[in-house]
Amino acid sequence: MEPSSTRVHVRKKQIRSVVARIREEHELSTAPIDVEELARKLAARVMKVETDDDELSGFLYRDPQSGEAVIGVNKSHSPTRQRFTLAHELGHLVLHSFDDLHYDRKGYGSGFGRVRMRDSESSKGENRDEVEANFFAAELLMPEDLLYKELKSREMHDFLESDFDAAVKLLAKQFKVSPQALTVRLVQIGILSPD
Ligand SMILES: [Zn+2]
Repeated sequence: MEPSSTRVHVRKKQIRSVVARIREEHELSTAPIDVEELARKLAARVMKVETDDDELSGFLYRDPQSGEAVIGVNKSHSPTRQRFTLAHELGHLVLHSFDDLHYDRKGYGSGFGRVRMRDSESSKGENRDEVEANFFAAELLMPEDLLYKELKSREMHDFLESDFDAAVKLLAKQFKVSPQALTVRLVQIGILSPD
């Protein structure tokens, strides 16, 4: 069957192995994942940006000559959102090639989207890049093995049964992500059903 034209192909399998390799190489084996430290190790300079533009999540600039990368993160956003933005930009850095400045502004449902809209073909490609960067961020910040480790503990298991919302909040705190991002992730890895 032909894939639907509105669907974009996301390289989930490849992204999973890229993230697994990065985690192994940089010994990221416990939660919360130190994403700022990882950025430094990947030679990306992180700037906390003060801006009135609340819609701006972050940006990635890669110097075509030196190859040096600069990642900007909106300073006024919550710490968990800043972490997710940083992980998202690292996803672009690792997975995608850019010859210019890449901005992420709210626009697509995911909260990420580029400023410039080109023709529909390239905007489809850009949309795929955003979905991939989000998937990279989720894999990095909420690794399946670490989530399962927590979920398998008896305390968490009982807690999830008795007070689901509070358990999700606690788990989100441990991983330094928002409860919303964690809920999406739990659906993604098949722990929660999507409804
Ligand atoms: Zn993006």
